[in-house]
Formats: sequence, structure tokens, C-alpha cells
Amino acid sequence: MPRVALIAHDDEKPEMIDLATEYESLLATFDLVATGTTGQRIADETGLEVERKKSGRIGGDTQIGAEVVEDRIDGIVFLRDPLTAQPHEPDIAALLRLCDVHDVAMATTRSSAEYLLDGLAAEVGETV
Ligand code: PGA
Repeated sequence: MPRVALIAHDDEKPEMIDLATEYESLLATFDLVATGTTGQRIADETGLEVERKKSGRIGGDTQIGAEVVEDRIDGIVFLRDPLTAQPHEPDIAALLRLCDVHDVAMATTRSSAEYLLDGLAAEVGETV
């Protein structure tokens, strides 16, 4: 079962909930992990079970990065807010870098997230 990480900055959380709702039946077949607040919102607003790391700004992105290093993550949807400076910018840059280093698929927009999830679904033979 693919393990997928879900992260959304505050302005992007409604978009993440919308995506998770649209893809709920597929995501229910995946092993989901998320940063703290994103994971809480997904758990509260969909029927999905999500493992929650710490909130991004206190190390959640870094915890997910550690899983990338350990080859545990198959894909990441990271809906970043391109218009707001983040206090944990170094952690975000590190996660992007680790995905580059370890060739882990990361989608940072809604449309690329749909391609990523559709691609993972095709790999495991799920219909979306
Ligand atoms: P959050 O973290 O899901 O805890 O809000 C996301 C982030 O800010 O990187």
C-alpha cells in the first residue's frame, strides 16, 4: 500500500480538504501521514484515517523528511502558500531537497497532486 504524506499551509488547507474529499475512496486505500494540523483537519472533515506528525512549524515537515530518507514515503502532496512567508522555511527547503535527493514524487499544486494520486492509483491498480 503506498504511503503518502499530506501537508498544507494554512491558506491551502481548504484546498487540501477539497482534494482529500474528492479522492477519499482512493486515499482510504493508502497509508496516510500528515503534519499535525493538516492531519487533524483531514481526520475531522473526511472519513480518512491519518497518522499525524507534529505541526509543520515545530518539526512536522522534518519528521516527514526523515521518512523520505528512510525510503518509507511513496509520494507527497505539499500544498504550499506561495504568498506568505513561513517561519519554518528552512524545514520546507530541506524537505524539498530530500525529495530531490531520494527521488520521491512531490506535488505542490492541486493539479499536480491529482496527477500524482492518479499515478499512484495506476501503479497499485486502483480505479479513481
Ligand atoms: P500543519 O503544518 O499541518 O501542522 O499546519 C503544515 C506546515 O505548516 O508545514
